[in-house]
Amino acid sequence: NQTCVVIGASHAGVNFAFALRKAGWQGNIKLFDADPTLPYHRPPLSKAYLTSADAIDKNLLKAADTYQKEQIELNLGVKVGSIERSAQVVQLQNGEQVAYDKLVIATGARPFIPPIEGIESAEQLFPLRTAEDVENIRQAFEQSEQKRVVIIGGGYIGLETAASLKKLGAQVTVLEREPRILARVTAPYMSDFFQELHAKNGVAVETNKNVVRIERANQQNFVQCDDGTDYPADIIIVGVGIRVNSEIAMEAGLEIDNGIKVNGQAQTSDEHIYAIGDCTYHFNPHYQRFIRLESVQNAVDQAKVAAAAICGKEVNYDTLPWFWSDQYDVKLQMVGLSQGYNEILIRKEAEEHKFSVWYFKDDELLAVDAVNNAKAYVVATKFIKSGEIINKTKLVDSNIEFKPANL
Ligand code: FAD
Repeated sequence: NQTCVVIGASHAGVNFAFALRKAGWQGNIKLFDADPTLPYHRPPLSKAYLTSADAIDKNLLKAADTYQKEQIELNLGVKVGSIERSAQVVQLQNGEQVAYDKLVIATGARPFIPPIEGIESAEQLFPLRTAEDVENIRQAFEQSEQKRVVIIGGGYIGLETAASLKKLGAQVTVLEREPRILARVTAPYMSDFFQELHAKNGVAVETNKNVVRIERANQQNFVQCDDGTDYPADIIIVGVGIRVNSEIAMEAGLEIDNGIKVNGQAQTSDEHIYAIGDCTYHFNPHYQRFIRLESVQNAVDQAKVAAAAICGKEVNYDTLPWFWSDQYDVKLQMVGLSQGYNEILIRKEAEEHKFSVWYFKDDELLAVDAVNNAKAYVVATKFIKSGEIINKTKLVDSNIEFKPANL
């Protein structure tokens, strides 16, 4: 009886295990995760979990009893220390060895903690990646009297966390090093929109703020920037990006390049080892380049591809990236990759806070950010996939009904 071992039981690993069973794998499936919590959805960590005490239990990836039903062995609180490729075994940190016929690496990523003076010893400072992080933040928040929260980093996680904690009555400041928030992922129009949205909701978003030191005095933290400004904080949250958990793959000699390099079947440079999710660097046929994505879509879709490939089906990973973010009453949906655009067009609808930003490279539609506008997201997906040329004049005319036939 063959054994498939999976390292990491989150969006990628868990979806893979169930997909593998569904694809017809008759052998053992052994999932390992260092996190002791039953696998849960991560996106709500910065959204619903922060504001509701019992949300983790309601947001499990799979119900507790389904693992056993599908004969998937789930080992929680168990870290895999290394991979020995020649013997086809993984070494657990508790000293045990587990043999594999196929191995799947779904180790994801961890928060990057920037080298800021005083950050290691700072109290009440938290990253946000796990259920435990959220629990720690919630506890610190409840115990804090003034509830002054400073968030380092104005990316999606930082901004969602700002919105969630504001709802709970915090006094929130977001410090962003770049001249605008979300600079890495969206157009200036979107950055301005979110900056204003936060201002309207009473969150101070400050740009060009390079945090250089965290100091503790009079039982308080002070977050200091290189322009001399200083922010007192009861709680500090760090959201400045991630580092891929690729060390065990690297030590095993697998090819690494901005993540674990895989082919269209999610296979690494070792034919018995696959990698899926946030930890992979993979080729995207639509955009004709290698990319690394941090999204549920990628984790789930790549998991399905790996499962099918292991079961001998002919597959090639070829999906369009999509992502979402919720802040206050705004639902942002993004499809495609905007890098390399040379024109943006904005289509505004009659309702407030409802619009879409269309990223073009000449006539080619690369990506769309749709704000409170599911229709724009659907129409955009269709056009990006098909490569059909859009009539730009009609696109921006909100008097023309929004449907593909009209564009
Ligand atoms: P991960 O979720 O990182 O899981 C990797 C797992 O591997 C972890 O559980 C870890 O404990 C385990 N592991 C690592 N090394 C070992 C080892 N050696 N031994 C055993 N176990 C190990 N995406 C969206 O698409 N939309 C969103 O709105 C969104 N919001 C987010 C909000 C927050 C706060 C966060 C943190 C992420 C958000 N994401 C969102 C990103 C999304 O959660 C990730 O893309 C997704 O979790 C990736 O899944 P993964 O399984 O590849 O990796």
